[in-house]
Amino acid sequence: MNHLSLPKVELHRHLEGSLRLETLIELAAQHGRSLPSTTVAGLRDHAQVLKPMGSLQEVLDAFVLFQDAFRSLDAVERLTFEAVEDAALDGVRLLELRFSPGFMAEPAGLDWDQMMLRVVRGVERAQEQYDIVVGLIAIVSRSLGPRSARDTVAFTLNWRAHIVGFDLADAEEAYPASDFATEMGQLFAIDMPITVHSGENVGPEHIRTSVDILNARRIGHGVSIVRDPTLVERFIEQGLALEMCPTSNLRTRAVDRLEDHPAAQLLGQGACVTLNSDDPGLFDITLSGELALAQERLGFTDEMIVASTRHAIEASFVPDAQKEEVREALRGFLGP
Ligand SMILES: [Zn+2]
Repeated sequence: MNHLSLPKVELHRHLEGSLRLETLIELAAQHGRSLPSTTVAGLRDHAQVLKPMGSLQEVLDAFVLFQDAFRSLDAVERLTFEAVEDAALDGVRLLELRFSPGFMAEPAGLDWDQMMLRVVRGVERAQEQYDIVVGLIAIVSRSLGPRSARDTVAFTLNWRAHIVGFDLADAEEAYPASDFATEMGQLFAIDMPITVHSGENVGPEHIRTSVDILNARRIGHGVSIVRDPTLVERFIEQGLALEMCPTSNLRTRAVDRLEDHPAAQLLGQGACVTLNSDDPGLFDITLSGELALAQERLGFTDEMIVASTRHAIEASFVPDAQKEEVREALRGFLGP
């Protein structure tokens, strides 16, 4: 299968993890910020996670370099434009792009609403050039604390016309789901779809809680679900989706080997499994590359790649009318 020309759907991609190193270097110069290296080759070792991590700190250190690029509103618009452009050039036809306003605004104290206007503008500019459906997802970073969670929920309510879903991310073990239930309940009450980073490096009981307490319709990663067959059954019955990210799951040590990744097994059982890149800039990957990897190392067949793409279209939070052109593109690719 030609993975590049397959019309693809990405449900799990972080804007803050989608930056080009060339742009990181240019922006650092513009903003008067220093970097560990000013060449792409030199920066690679500091800003990217290219092998299974020794410690979580390595990943966090790399992420801080990406975060520091968001120092002006012009940078926000440019970085958003480029993230959508890179997806489009990789043949992604439906992109859900997520970002944490608290995390992005932190380095320069940017105003969240001003920032959002520029994110929206960056998406629109990319859509003037490329044929791509984009849905934005707002993220609460668990580790930024309850104040940031409250602010992000209020922000999401305020910008609901431009936001298709809501996500809870990072440090799952340290911050129980119950800490966020009341705030996120406000979003559930207005039918804002919810996805939660869950069961990545912790057990399946966390995934169960994310569904029970936070009303998640989709789970980011969810690798440990395979250890709880009754939970897998429930996901199949209720059509709950898994946003799995092979390279990310290997490099953050959610799996020891790609061959141990449960995506193919779960898809074969009938679960709504989707394949995603998570952070293409941080990991130096593309979604096309992840699909090829799934075939080379995870046991996916051509039919399974197509099935996971169909699952991703149906599990997407974008309005149904916008999905039809993506279904049509996939039909066109597959032929009569
Ligand atoms: Zn993620």
